[in-house]
Amino acid sequence: MSPLDWMDIQGTQGSLDSGPKPALDREAEDLLEGLNPPQREAASHPGGPLLILAGAGSGKTRVITRRIAWLVRTGRAAPHEVLAITFTNKAAREMRERVERLLPVQGPWIGTFHAISARILRREIGALGTYTGEFSIYDTADRNQLLKRLIKDLGYDPARFRPSAVGACISDGKNRGAVRQRGGEGGEGMEHEVLRRVRDAYDEALLRANALDFDDLLLKTLEVFQRFAGVRDAYAHRFRHVLVDEYQDTNRVQYELVRHISSVHGNLDVCGDPDQSIYTWRGADIHNILDFERDFPGARVVKLEQNYRSSGVILEAAQAVIRNNRQRKEKELWTEAARGPAIRVFECGDENDEAERIVAEIRALQAEGIRLDRIAIFYRVNFLQRALERALRLSALPYQIAGGVEFYARREIKDLVSYLQVLSNPANDVAMVRIVNVPARGIGERSLELLADWAKERGVPLSSAIRSQEARALVRGRARSSAEALAQLLERLEHAPRLPAAEALDQVIDAIDYFGWLASSGDPEAESRAENVEELRANAATFDRQNPEGLLRGFLEDVALVSEVDSIDAAEEGATGPVTLMTLHAAKGLEFPVVFIAGMEEELFPHARALMDADGSDGDGNDGDGSDGDGSDGDGGGPGLEEERRLFYVGLTRAMDRLHLSWARTRMHFGETSWREGSRFLDELPPACLDAEDPEEDEAESLGSFDAKSVSVALAEGDIVRHSHFGTGRIERLVGAGPNARATVAFPGHGAKILLLSYANLVKLGR
Ligand code: ATP
Ligand code: MG
Repeated sequence: MSPLDWMDIQGTQGSLDSGPKPALDREAEDLLEGLNPPQREAASHPGGPLLILAGAGSGKTRVITRRIAWLVRTGRAAPHEVLAITFTNKAAREMRERVERLLPVQGPWIGTFHAISARILRREIGALGTYTGEFSIYDTADRNQLLKRLIKDLGYDPARFRPSAVGACISDGKNRGAVRQRGGEGGEGMEHEVLRRVRDAYDEALLRANALDFDDLLLKTLEVFQRFAGVRDAYAHRFRHVLVDEYQDTNRVQYELVRHISSVHGNLDVCGDPDQSIYTWRGADIHNILDFERDFPGARVVKLEQNYRSSGVILEAAQAVIRNNRQRKEKELWTEAARGPAIRVFECGDENDEAERIVAEIRALQAEGIRLDRIAIFYRVNFLQRALERALRLSALPYQIAGGVEFYARREIKDLVSYLQVLSNPANDVAMVRIVNVPARGIGERSLELLADWAKERGVPLSSAIRSQEARALVRGRARSSAEALAQLLERLEHAPRLPAAEALDQVIDAIDYFGWLASSGDPEAESRAENVEELRANAATFDRQNPEGLLRGFLEDVALVSEVDSIDAAEEGATGPVTLMTLHAAKGLEFPVVFIAGMEEELFPHARALMDADGSDGDGNDGDGSDGDGSDGDGGGPGLEEERRLFYVGLTRAMDRLHLSWARTRMHFGETSWREGSRFLDELPPACLDAEDPEEDEAESLGSFDAKSVSVALAEGDIVRHSHFGTGRIERLVGAGPNARATVAFPGHGAKILLLSYANLVKLGR
């Protein structure tokens, strides 16, 4: 299939070189309204490479959006000649909507690297001779499931060789193999026997299943461009203007793709902020942005320095924090905004206390008339979510968790999507294995193995075995008739790929009586699962409405590409949505009037892994014990610690008006309660930006006076006690009752500590 098929459709090329038409000047000018002079300069850059280098909240994304409209309006590009690349699907959706609001046109390609690559491969992958355009996309969960089976098949123990870790190594190796890394050879360490064998088996399984994983989407596109200059040139000709947001987090493969695709016209606009590079652990290469001027000679560089998002206090704090990084170029941001309320820091007893403090604060904000969808809670690691969710649920505050994978990883959703995947690509073995016993059909492990072996020997997919009478004859009893029934069912639904997604889904649900099965399953979560399925139906219907040509395959692609940094749903404009919970990584590019960052503790944030290289040596797995590098000497710490600090900077700069940071002195994780220390990042905040609340005052007020009868050990102020970690100390103050009872204890050498009596196990030594 030639790309010229769709290039012919436009037929307007001739008019494009004639430059802006005077009649359009005023309208084009209108598109630049509300931009400051450097933003304007960037949005109306006449052509050639352009680098927009700027701090958080300075309008980079806004400029890219306006520029797309401006390029089209001034005739510099027809809509379909514009390619804009965003970091998440959500960002792509938003950008598309905004462009459409500015200019009633459709046609620009706006999407993530993965979505754009998938779109190109649907047309072009045939050239490689090994895959067809109907390929399935395996997400990370599919990949891990396949790896688990292969690891077992090869006789290794998946508990020792964890599929997710093996998968990460394979991914790393693939990406490194495909492109030369700057300043490092890398790739060893993973080259041992087990990994090699699993990797070979994995590649073979993908090929047999006509499936690509996330890495392949980019790598195969790159391979097509490298091997077939004609195809590459067709795309490079087509896309007159290429724009990339969040360029600081592109990896080498993405860099190469961008180079290829902008190679004819040289109109490449990128924007980014090196201080917000937070994905180097996934291969993002900061040099892509730092070396832009060298890689694209003659590049115009525009710097944006006015921040439009945050209050003065928040901006000042964020800049003070990021200045502790050594590996950076200093840049100043300023704002016209008022200083605004000080940043508040909550010191809490444990994770539940922290969650309750946050909920109480949200209630107070609500009372002030602040809508819940203006509020976000961020955390560095996922497990923190649990306590927060619990408290929000108990207080009946609606919330949503950003991260599309959450939804699509749910069992019931995976089940149904797997059916659709098998119907769309019968070679998709991972999906086939999943649906064999949905609903329960009594096809046991052994029977499945026999069928899988039969298929493997013949080099055909598992679904062919299920459809083959010869193969089914190998299995006995109920399994045999069940397999036959499944084969018939798949045959009956064979036409599904030609249906709109919602219709295909409904036919599957009916054919397997999914709701009936759920209801009779005795699963305590049956009801919420049914609700999720309803949500999936609604998603499919929305997809059909927005993509009348998309059909089932288009929908599956959409589902597969929901990356883990994407959110489920943005609240409708004007409606009041719920509070949003998300990891700091997922918060990139977003903004909220009110932000909470929970778990501001050493080893959580900065993450323990990053502290390992706080001594400044590079790379993973060095043997630093994390005890050094307290940040107080102005040393930025190692590269891992600097990346954590950039992540903190990203978190801080999401907040527009109010910012709350919290930490807990004890926290339960994996069933164990540990003592925590406040994050070093808290010490990096300028005191002038903080609301200096007296924690003791506050606590006495909220907890009430000490109730000696409510605790198991008889304690009084003035008692000498022993603590397993801090040693011997004197109780200075007691407040609260029962599980909330706390003691302030002065420990020589450690200072005063506030301890939760129910965890502290204080032993009374005397008075
Ligand atoms: P980040 O680094 O977080 O991605 P960004 O540089 O992309 O931020 P935007 O999200 O584009 O910044 O803009 C931040 C906020 O400032 C948005 O609410 C945007 O509408 C607003 N903004 C940007 N430029 C202007 C301007 N010239 N006048 C008024 N508001 C602006
Ligand atoms: Mg942005």
